[in-house]
Amino acid sequence: MGSGRYIAVLKQTGPREYRCRETITRREFTARVEDRHLSLFARPSVQWTHPAACPFLRQDGETYLCTIRASRPPFCREYRCVRMRVEKGAAAVGELRGKTGLKTKDAALSALWEGRIAHLDLQDREGRAEAARILEGAGYDPVWYVEAEDLTGTAPPS
Ligand code: SF4
Repeated sequence: MGSGRYIAVLKQTGPREYRCRETITRREFTARVEDRHLSLFARPSVQWTHPAACPFLRQDGETYLCTIRASRPPFCREYRCVRMRVEKGAAAVGELRGKTGLKTKDAALSALWEGRIAHLDLQDREGRAEAARILEGAGYDPVWYVEAEDLTGTAPPS
């Protein structure tokens, strides 16, 4: 979901509709902002603070949501398994796929994850919040990707 560099907005084609291109495959697609996310979409873009973020990503509290979920491109459908990215400065330094496995080349982050985070229940909001506190305390910026349904309770990200 933080794949802004993979999605280019070509032009706005309607009040909530945008013609876009996947920059890697060059495939074009039409993005439609969903009714339930219109007010969220009107908020400042995540790209203002995270230039590599997708133009359709919006922050909602501690989490980030795709505002065009039903019309997201094939690239996003194929790579949905990313649940969280860890950023440091402007760089992405880690990716959480699956339940607990963090993929990173940052040795300090890897040690931090194994020592203090891997045992947490990241399916649960409190577990994610504790992981975020630990990461932020060490100078990292966790970016969680959850679906709207996950925000209604303690249901985990898929
Ligand atoms: S899933 Fe949505 S927010 Fe994430 S990169 Fe794709 S279009 Fe953007």
